[in-house]
This record gives sequence, C-alpha cells and structure tokens, in this order.
Amino acid sequence: MAQSIDRELIEQPRLALLYQISREISSRLDIDELLPRLLQVTLDSIQGHSGSIIVLDEQGRPRHGALLLNGAFHPAPAQLLAVILEHGLAGWVVRTGETAYVPDTAVDARWYRQPETSQRDTRSAIVAPLLGRQRIVGVMSIGRLDVQAFHLDDVALTAAIAAQAGIAVENAQLFAAQRRERDFSNHLREVARTVNGTLELNQVLPLVLEQLSSVIDYDSASILLRDGDQLRVAAVHGFADPAAVMALSFDALAGLAGRVLRERHSVVVDDVQRSDEWLISEVPEIHTIHAWIGAPLIVKDDVLGLLSVDSRRPGAYAPEDGEVVASFAEQAAVAVLNARRYADSERRSSGLRALAATAQAINGAFDLNEVLRLVIVHAQEWLGMEAASLALVEGDRLVFKQAAGPVADNLRGVSIQVGSGSIAGWVAEHNEPIIVPDVRVDPRFFGGVDARTGFTTRALACVPVRLHNRPIGVIQVLNPASGRFDDDTLNLLDSLASLAGTAIIQAQRIDELRAAENRFSGLFEDSLDPILITNLEGVVTDANRRASEFFGFERAEMIGMRVNNLHGVRTNSLESGRYTPLLGGDAIRYQTDITPRVGKEVPVEVHAKLIVRGDEKFIHWIHHDLSERVALEELRNDLMSMIIHDLRSPLGNIMSSLDILRSTLPGNDEMLNSLLSIAGRAASRLSRLVDSLLDLRRLESGDLRLNRVAVNTVALLGEAVEQVQPTAEAKGIHLLTTVPVVPPIVALDVDLIRRVIINLLDNAVKYTPRSGTITSGLKWAPDQLTVSVRDTGPGIPAGEHQRIFDKFARVQREASAKGLGLGLAFCKLAVEAHGGRIWADSELERGAIFSFTLPIVAPEDIAP
Ligand code: ADP
Repeated sequence: MAQSIDRELIEQPRLALLYQISREISSRLDIDELLPRLLQVTLDSIQGHSGSIIVLDEQGRPRHGALLLNGAFHPAPAQLLAVILEHGLAGWVVRTGETAYVPDTAVDARWYRQPETSQRDTRSAIVAPLLGRQRIVGVMSIGRLDVQAFHLDDVALTAAIAAQAGIAVENAQLFAAQRRERDFSNHLREVARTVNGTLELNQVLPLVLEQLSSVIDYDSASILLRDGDQLRVAAVHGFADPAAVMALSFDALAGLAGRVLRERHSVVVDDVQRSDEWLISEVPEIHTIHAWIGAPLIVKDDVLGLLSVDSRRPGAYAPEDGEVVASFAEQAAVAVLNARRYADSERRSSGLRALAATAQAINGAFDLNEVLRLVIVHAQEWLGMEAASLALVEGDRLVFKQAAGPVADNLRGVSIQVGSGSIAGWVAEHNEPIIVPDVRVDPRFFGGVDARTGFTTRALACVPVRLHNRPIGVIQVLNPASGRFDDDTLNLLDSLASLAGTAIIQAQRIDELRAAENRFSGLFEDSLDPILITNLEGVVTDANRRASEFFGFERAEMIGMRVNNLHGVRTNSLESGRYTPLLGGDAIRYQTDITPRVGKEVPVEVHAKLIVRGDEKFIHWIHHDLSERVALEELRNDLMSMIIHDLRSPLGNIMSSLDILRSTLPGNDEMLNSLLSIAGRAASRLSRLVDSLLDLRRLESGDLRLNRVAVNTVALLGEAVEQVQPTAEAKGIHLLTTVPVVPPIVALDVDLIRRVIINLLDNAVKYTPRSGTITSGLKWAPDQLTVSVRDTGPGIPAGEHQRIFDKFARVQREASAKGLGLGLAFCKLAVEAHGGRIWADSELERGAIFSFTLPIVAPEDIAP
C-alpha cells in the first residue's frame, strides 16, 4: 500500500532531508526508540510545534505511541492517543488512507479538541498515514500554533516521511515479534527443560505456572485438569487464598473453559465479568479477574485440561497473547502427560510393592484376622481410598470382618444379605468384580450399610474373594482420593483378593493341621506302648507317659538322651545299617532287649518310622513289650521238651522188644521178617524225629555242646547212604556217590552230621519218583568241606529255597509226602553250630541239590 510520493512537489534540499530521515529511522529497530526519534526529526524538518504518532495492531487498535507537546514527550500517552484515534482526525486518516491538511483546526469538525487543557491550541495541522506493506500501520500528525502555517510542500514532505516511517515501523514490529518469538522459544525450551527434569505432577504444575510468568504478565494463573466431565483445579499461582481456588471444580463442557476444550484453541476475553459464559464461583478472588486467556492443554488428540491466565485489568491481553499462551500450553501439556505417565507407572510399581509387602505380611502373620486386616489396610493405603472393607460369606449373609477408614469400628460385624440387594451382595452372588463410579445412579446400591455406619459412599469398586473359584467373600474400596478409579485398580484389588483367599486357605490348613496334631498327641499320650520321638540324629525330643514308666526316667530326663542309650540300636549313627531305609521314609521293625533304669532286661519289638511335622522330620519309635509272649513261648517249649523226652523211653522199649522178637522168632518166615523190619524202620524214624526235636530244642537254646572228633568223612557218608539204601531200593532208586580218593578227615560231631546227611538223603528218597537217581558227594577245599545230595525229584520253587529251613515249613504240593517240616530246620542249626552254611539249589521239575559246608578246623582249635 506504500504510496508513490509525488517527488516533484518536494524541493531538492528537502529531498536530501527525506533521504537523511529515512536512513536515520531505518537504522532503529526498537519501536520504543524509533517513534520518539521519528517524531522529533519530522518536527525539526517541518518546524512543527507538536506532534504524535500512533502505531496500530492488526485489529486497528493502538499498540504503541509517542506524543510531543511544547517540546516535551508525554510520559504515558496511550490513553490520550486512543481518544484522538477514536474521536479525532487521526481516525479519519486511518479509515480513508489519505493525508489530511487542516489549515484551521477551529473550523474543521474532524479535529478533536481536548475538553480542558492548559496548552495552547494547535491551529493548523498535517495528519498522514504510516503506510506499511499491506496496510496502514499507524498515523502521524504535526501541528503548529498559527492558522495556515504549512505550505503544500510541507504536506508532501510529511506524507513522504510517514510513508517511509510506515515501513520502518513495520520492520521494527517484525523485529520485535521475531525477538519475542526467539525469547519465547528460549522460554519454552527452558520450560520443557525444567518441567521435564521433574516428573512429580505436584511439582511439575507449579513449575509450569512459574515459567508462564516469564512469557506473559498475569495476576493469577491456574492449571485445570480434566477428570471425566469435570475440570479440577490442579495448580494455582498468584491467588491470595490458593486453597479456596484449589478446591474448585467445573463442568468441563460448559462456559468459557468448555469452549476452550471444545474448540481446542485459546480464547482471549477482555473482561470475563461481562461475559455470561464466565462460570459463577463463590470464591471472592474469582470476581477480581477481568482479562482472561484460556488455552487448552493438548497432546496429540488428547485434551488434558486448561491453562488459565488471569488479569485484574480489563483488556490486558491481545490475541497474540492468546497465541503465546497457547504455544506455552502445548509444551506444558507434554510435561503434564509425562508426569501423569510417570505417576501411573509409579502407582503400578507401588501396587506391585504393595502386593509383595502384603504377601510378606501374610507369610509373617499366623492369625487369619491379622492377615485380613493387613490386606484391607494395604488396599486402602495403596489404592488411595477413603475406606476399604472385607466381608466373608456365612450361610446366606455377608459379614464384615475387617475394615479401614473413618467408620471401620462401626462396620465390623455388620451383615447383609448375599444377592442383588447390595453391590457387595451382587458381587458375592455373581462372582464378578465391579466398579461403580457413582453409586447414586446404580440401582444395586443399597445404602443400608451407610445408614448404619454414618459413612457416605460415592464411588466403589468391589471384587470377590474366591476359594477354589467359588466366592467366599468380597473386598470393597470406597471413594478414591483422586475422585476416580484408575484402570489398574481392579487388577490390584483382584490380586489382593487372591492373597486374602490364599491366606484363608492357609488358615484352614493350619486348623486342620492343629486338629490332626491334637488327635496325634491324644494317641501318642494314651498309647499302651512306650513311644519315643527323636530327631534324625536319634536325640529324644518327646516321650509318652508309658515310655516314662517303661524306661524308668521322667519325661524331662529322657528329652535330650540318645535313643541308643535307651535301647540297643547297636550303632551310633542312624544313617547306616538297618536304619538306612528309615531315613528314606520306610518303616523298620526289629527285636531287641531293653534294660530299664531299674529291673531286668525286657525283650521288645521296635517299630520305627519317619514322621514329618510341619517342615521338620522326626523318627517315631514304638516299643512293643514282648515279655509275655516270650514267657509263653518258653512255657510251650518246656512242655514240648517234656513230652518229647517222655516219648523216648517207651520208644526205646519198643525197639529193644522188636530186636528180641527178631532173634527169638524162626528166621524163615518171610512174612514175619518183613513185618518186623517195617516196624523196626518206623521205630527208628520215630526215634530220629524225637532226637531231632530234642536236638532242635538244645541247638536253639544253645545248650547243646558239640562233641567234635576227627572223622573219615567218606566213611561217614557211606554209613548214611547205607541207612537209606533199603527204602531207596524199594522204590527202584539208584544211589550214586562221588568222593575224593583221599578221604578228608574233619573234626565234627559225628552223631549230628550223620543225622544231617541222613535227613537230606531221606528227603531225596521221599521226593524222588520211582527209578530216579540220587547222587551224594564230598568236595574238599583247603579250608572247607562241601557235602551235597542231588536228586531227580520235583525240585523246590524259587521263593521257598530259604523258608524250607524254618521250623515246620513245608512246600504245599498236591500229592504231599508225609512229614513235619522239622528235618531241614534241624540240619540248618546243626550245620551252623559247626560254623558252616546250608542251602538248596533247585529249579522246579529239574530236581534239587542240597549242599552244606563245614569249615575245616585245626585239631588244636577244637575245644575239649
Ligand atoms: P519234611 O518233614 O516235610 O520233609 P523238611 O524240613 O525235611 O520237612 O523239609 C521241608 C520241606 O522241604 C518239605 O516238606 C519239602 O516240601 C521240601 N523238600 C525237602 N527236601 C526236598 C527235596 N529233596 N525235593 C523236593 N522238596 C524237598
């Protein structure tokens, strides 16, 4: 819009002057310096008496100005210049864009005269527009005290100066804007630096407001954060009563604030008190706010809240200020978001810490009530709730067991119906967690508990406590301090509820364990058998009443004693020998003798077993007193011995009578001879049996003394074979013997060993079918003699090889030969009495081999 100046109208010297002026002003970039200088040089050039410059903003409002009257600059010209612009010629020039020359101000209606002024009036004036590149950026006027004081070339020169000045002013404004921008971005950087340096929301927000003051002048400022459809004041600066303002919250959709959030850009208001969009507040300070800027806190598409900048002076803020605050708010929003994220992650990790701490507390606490109390206290503290409670299902009611918060004491013991009559009842019935942000609008909310406790529930979250996936109670948290439930509230609550569930299971187990322990200690204490409990080292840790009577020690005396001092464990370590299976968890059983403190030795059978109590392992030793059983057995044995002994003499009589009979009867009666020899063999078998029984008794009791003599063992074997020959021949059995060429001479009890060999041969004959073979033999090694008897009979099943050597043990067969099961028992005792060993080798249906060894004893070792 820069007008071309009609330079023809300007004389040569004045053109030089114009050039000089333009250089002078274009070198100045600070508008506050430029305007007075411009005014001064113009007045000097045109010999003006007074003058003014008004610089306008883009909306045409006065922004800067200078006023020179009677040679002096006015110190605060803003108000006066605004009036001149509104009512005087300056306004006309701005509107028309033309330069005006007023030869006599008195007769020009466009001239504004100050109502009362001590100054002498301007009588003639030139008013010219300051022409910028696109628009009129201001207006300059020059006056003189005389009428018609200017020439036409004065008007042309003034217009030319104003045109030049318009560009200079625009440049200065641009420069100022750039500088402001540079300063501002420096500020923003600073803001970003400081606010990002801290992540605590309650530190970030005051910092943002503090930084704001270096970007724009304000009397007070605040940050309001969005929380659902509410805007809560989160930080304030510059208020006399910050607490009152902090307590405020507004509808996020209404009023000026609502507009800022909806339109997502800043709003500048000259005077909010005149706006019907300004929200009414009871806080007096809010009424002193006039000019206002509201800028949205936006990150990406998220409107977090609002930055509010207040001034007590109406019209204090221009639209550019709105832009400044908006860019600042953008930076602040990022900081707020970061702080929020940090707070979230902090809360999450503090949630985890809470869980860990609760879990630890549960492990440390034995009492279920204490555990549940801790769960509730932690739920209240960590989730930032006004109150928390736990109720357990009892029948069809929910009974409040634990509570934290202002009415905790009133709540404990209160019960409500399970079912849809209340939110807790609903959760207990449906086994589902729930968040109720506003209880007033949830039809399930009961209010009956509040009525009893005096509490006011606003919002609540409730989760079921489950046992094997069935609801056994609920945990509730009420009225979050932050006004809303966070996303992870339910997660954390759920975890606390599962901890509570675990604690309840644990408590039940402990109860069961106690009951089992009580049962056990009843059995233990009242047992008729003496019982000792030792640790794995065998040190007595407990003993029952019977043990104390039996061992003859007080219970306290026995505790600490070693079990091997109380009975013959025969080892110092329970980790060896027959105790090994014990430590592996198997029960063991053995017989031993116990010598009580007073009295004689008592035979006992000991049952020992590993038991686990809690985490510890013990050994439980039950002693079964065998005295009575042993006494009875002795009695029976004595009786047996007496009977057997008494059989001997009548048997002796029978045998000698048969001998006499044989010698007195005629030798040619075959029939009689055969009957006599049958009776003789039967009598001598019976006699051997009686002898065996007697020997068995003596061998068992250790009463039998071996009568060792050096014997030709080949001859001994021959005698034995001769004995069984008649019976074998009768069955068509072949008898073979394999013996060494040099007969071994061994010191042994001839009578006993002969009977051993005869017994083995007898059995072989008995069990070998007709036409079988029996091979008896002797083998000879430097230190032992082995005697064996092999047959071709049915053999012996593998599982019976050991057992057949027990007294009265016989193999069950379909067609069983007659016998008592004593023969092999006798053989074993007799061989072992000689320090030898006897065994059977056999496969079923493949015959049997019975062998025994006898150590070869040097003659000098034979006891006399
Ligand atoms: P018994 O008086 O029954 O023969 P023993 O003690 O001599 O008593 O033998 C015990 C059991 O061993 C017998 O009942 C028999 O079943 C088995 N037995 C002994 N010797 C033989 C053998 N040579 N062949 C097969 N079985 C045998």
